[in-house]
Amino acid sequence: MSTPRPAIRSYEILEGTGAVGGQSIRCLVCRHTSHNANDVHHRYCAHCALFHDEFTHLAVWLLRHGGDSDEFAAGLKPEVRDYLRQCLRR
Ligand SMILES: [Zn+2]
Repeated sequence: MSTPRPAIRSYEILEGTGAVGGQSIRCLVCRHTSHNANDVHHRYCAHCALFHDEFTHLAVWLLRHGGDSDEFAAGLKPEVRDYLRQCLRR
């Protein structure tokens, strides 16, 4: 059996809701939805100042190295850190 991948998602893509019927991105951390094509492309939340790929990497790193690290997460906004902790507890 392979190692189960944790279900860590900090965004979802909404089809047909963006500019000219394109995609939008909703941040699951702050619930902000952006219709900006650049945000969608880069998987970025301006509200959280967060690249979602970065978030996923951070979460995986923390899981591998055993739990929480305040030092490592120090650059993150509090709400981002809280969401990350929630993900790690699941
Ligand atoms: Zn956000």
